[in-house]
Amino acid sequence: MNDLASIRSAFPILDRKVGANRLVYLDNAATTQKPLKVLEASRHYYESLNANIHRGTHHLARAATDAFEAARGTVARHLNATSPEEIIFTSGTTAGINLAASSLALSGRITEGDVVLISALEHHSNIVPWQMLCQRTGAQLKVIPCHDDGTLDQSRFHQWLAEGRVRVMAITWISNAFGTVNPVGQMTQAARDAGALVLIDAAQAAPHIGIDVVGLGADLLVFSGHKLYAPTGIGVLWGRRDLLESLPPWQGGGEMIREVTFEHTTYNDPPFKFEAGTPNIEGAIALAAAVDFVNDIGLDAIHAHESLLMRAAESALTDIDGIRFFGPADRSGSLSFLVDGIHPYDLGTLMDQRGVAVRTGHHCCQPLMARFGISGTVRASFAVYNDTSDVEAIADAVARSVKMLR
Ligand code: PMP
Repeated sequence: MNDLASIRSAFPILDRKVGANRLVYLDNAATTQKPLKVLEASRHYYESLNANIHRGTHHLARAATDAFEAARGTVARHLNATSPEEIIFTSGTTAGINLAASSLALSGRITEGDVVLISALEHHSNIVPWQMLCQRTGAQLKVIPCHDDGTLDQSRFHQWLAEGRVRVMAITWISNAFGTVNPVGQMTQAARDAGALVLIDAAQAAPHIGIDVVGLGADLLVFSGHKLYAPTGIGVLWGRRDLLESLPPWQGGGEMIREVTFEHTTYNDPPFKFEAGTPNIEGAIALAAAVDFVNDIGLDAIHAHESLLMRAAESALTDIDGIRFFGPADRSGSLSFLVDGIHPYDLGTLMDQRGVAVRTGHHCCQPLMARFGISGTVRASFAVYNDTSDVEAIADAVARSVKMLR
């Protein structure tokens, strides 16, 4: 990437030290750092616009409402959504999936004996809400297994679709644990042809891939702002408009109503029907700034840059005696590995002493770890601001730490 120095200088946190070392931040799949453009959008909101939205007649209330709704428009355009009304602001991916699963459970669309399909690669937040839906409705949860290389077993997927009664498929686009990129376009098409509603967990895709919800053909898609250079506490649930219109609200309160009496309440239209209470106004505005930030650089360029670094890291680590990588060779975003005889936590702790921040553990994917008979991995995950010196730093930190631990 040509302008990497100026990109890095937009992230003030990269200048801080961890002990005597510079910060080598490779935990981007957990959360990304925030560029000045995003920090300034948050600050500008509180310095110049802060007011509650939608209800006020005064100037600030209108200005804040305009900025919030403009942010919705920015996100809609970014996802190629048909209209801004398809964008529901949530607090993150987890909230979006819970909203979708709870609303579907209330809708009466899922009944006893129906099947909800997820995959072996899912994050807990794309497992537990569906288990809860199954408990409420009597539906059955089926899990598409994965092969040893961390890719999904497509023949089992098609077999289960053919067996019928699959009402919902909820799968991740990119695995946060192994970096596997699922063929979500083909799987969505097949599941929809079989009559299922499809939710895509794009938490790990949104920072690396340009999303076109129309081209994808799914019904629902979720992601978190904080993995896309925006603050925590803001996320998006996109839904097909006709579906959102037909689904019942999940949470009740202000904003989501049209008229309330003690006897009866009528509901607002989407997206407001699903946004009860005061939303994260500043978060939505900062998320729009983050979307502009990635689009100014280009997600294709960001992805190409990260992939180069990840491949370089893999080849720099490959000579470590007993190292084992997880996920397929064409993984994206995250590089997961273990070194024989060394606990990932011990390795991560020693790497941290050299300023290298990686994630260790089960990555909120306990069933996936159980499938591989491991308790966790070490995961290095990449973002736009990483550079070749970060690759050298991780290679050096792993080599030295392994030597100390053996
Ligand atoms: N799904 C995936 C694939 C993720 O990587 C994450 C975050 N690690 C989540 C869901 C949950 O996201 P959040 O904690 O932001 O709600």
